[in-house]
Amino acid sequence: MSLDGQYDPDNIFAKILRGELPCVKVYEDEHVLSFMDIFPQAPGHVLVVPREPARNALEMTDGALQAAIVRVKRIARAVKAALAPDGIVLTQFNGAPAGQTVFHVHFHIIPRQDGVPLGAHGGGQADMDVLQDQATRIAAAIETP
Ligand code: 5GP
Repeated sequence: MSLDGQYDPDNIFAKILRGELPCVKVYEDEHVLSFMDIFPQAPGHVLVVPREPARNALEMTDGALQAAIVRVKRIARAVKAALAPDGIVLTQFNGAPAGQTVFHVHFHIIPRQDGVPLGAHGGGQADMDVLQDQATRIAAAIETP
């Protein structure tokens, strides 16, 4: 999947957005749905998925992108408050050669701890109870705008 192509409405995140597949939810509003990555690169790895059907950030409308990045910041602040990481990586991949594997635009929020290497992208599946506990703590720390 290069940068050019057709949006597939049956991609996995589109199905999660429509409620056809489950997720461990962190936050949602009219602009985004945020949930735990089930193959986390670090404990507390959160995804923020804009509702706009775009394959990547380059295809997004300015308004949807602005709304999404503000929510990424808000949820990253909640990750900081809930999990007390030493650092936080924000990433967003456009096209398979850039590392994108799900072709509905999304942002990664990945907590980092000093001296702990980043896990593999798309590594092992997390324990659902652990994800739910993290999601509950992060959700409780989200500030109202
Ligand atoms: P990308 O490589 O496209 O930037 O990131 C896709 C992310 O989605 C990966 O980090 C991967 O672990 C995650 N992922 C893939 N399938 C699922 C799924 O069914 N549920 C959740 N919550 N995350 C997924």
